[in-house]
Amino acid sequence: MKYKHLFGPVVSRRLGISLGVDVIPYKYCSLNCVYCEVSTTTHLTLKRKPFYEVSEIMGELDDFLADNPELDYITFSGAGEPTLNSNLGGIISGIKEKYPQYKLALITNSSLLTDPELRAEILPCDLMLPSLDAVSEPCFQEVNRPIDKLRAEDLIQGLVQLRAEYTGPIWLEVFIVPGINDHLEEIELIKEAIEKIQPDKVQINSLDRPGAEAWVEPAIYLALEEIRAILQEDSVIPVEIIAKTHWESTITVSEEAVLNELVEYLKTGQYSKAELAKALEIHVNEVSKLLQHLAKQDLVAARHKHKGIYYIWKQ
Ligand code: SF4
Repeated sequence: MKYKHLFGPVVSRRLGISLGVDVIPYKYCSLNCVYCEVSTTTHLTLKRKPFYEVSEIMGELDDFLADNPELDYITFSGAGEPTLNSNLGGIISGIKEKYPQYKLALITNSSLLTDPELRAEILPCDLMLPSLDAVSEPCFQEVNRPIDKLRAEDLIQGLVQLRAEYTGPIWLEVFIVPGINDHLEEIELIKEAIEKIQPDKVQINSLDRPGAEAWVEPAIYLALEEIRAILQEDSVIPVEIIAKTHWESTITVSEEAVLNELVEYLKTGQYSKAELAKALEIHVNEVSKLLQHLAKQDLVAARHKHKGIYYIWKQ
C-alpha cells in the first residue's frame, strides 16, 4: 500500500524510531518560518479545518501497524502545522484506543495552544515537542513571519496553559537563525519565557537542510554552545543542542591559504562573521566553515555582544 499520510519510520537522536503522520495538506501553516525545511507556506492560516477524516488516517495506520513494527513514537509532523486539522483529537483518541502500545508525539509550532479545545484534544499524547524561536515581536516577525494578529505572546501564553494542564514531558525547541534571534537580548528574553513555561527540556536546533530562504545559514556549533550556556545558567531545566554540528567538514588545499589569513586576522581582534567575510573577501558560509574547523581544534571562541556573535582567537 502506498501511503499519503505516513512517512518513515525515521531514526533520530531525538525520538528514536519514529513513524511520521502528516495530517495537513501541503503547505498549510500559521507561520512562514525563514528556516522552514519544507518550503514557503502557501496557505497561511490559523483556522482549523477537518482536512482529512479520522478514517482516512486510521486506514493507513491499520495497514502499517498490522505487523506490529517496533517504534519508539508515532509522531504528528509533516508539511504543515498538525494542530490545524480539527480532526486531530479524533485521530489521537483513535490511535490510543486501537494501538495503546504505541507512544504518540506531537510536533507543533505552538501557535494554536491558546485554544482550550485543542489542548484538551492533544492531552493524551505521550510527548509534546512545541517550538518557540523568538519572544520580542520584531524578532518573531522576522524569523517566523506569522499570520496577521498572531503574536509571540500568544505562543508563550498557550505554552504556559499547556504546561498547567499537561502532565507528560514537554521538550521545547528553539531554532537559532544566525543574525536574527541569536543576539544576547533575544536569548535572555527566551530564557525568561522558558522559566515561565517550565518545559522538561529545552532543545536548541539550527539549519540542517536548505531553508525556505536561501540566506539562512546554520549556526556555528560554538555559538550554539554559547547560547546553551546562557540558557542553562541558574536554571534546573536541562538545555541541549540537537543541531547537527557539521564538524566533519574538511578543509581543501585551496582553502588552507584563506584559513591562514583568517587566523592572522583573528589574532588582531574580535570580529563577527560578516566582518570576517568582508575582510577576507569570501562568502559568509565559507567563514562559517573555516571557523568551525578552528573551533574543532579549540582555537577560537564565540562571544555574545549586543550586536551579535563575535569570534576571538584563543591562544
Ligand atoms: S512552523 Fe514548521 S511547518 Fe510551519 S513554516 Fe515553520 S518550520 Fe515550516
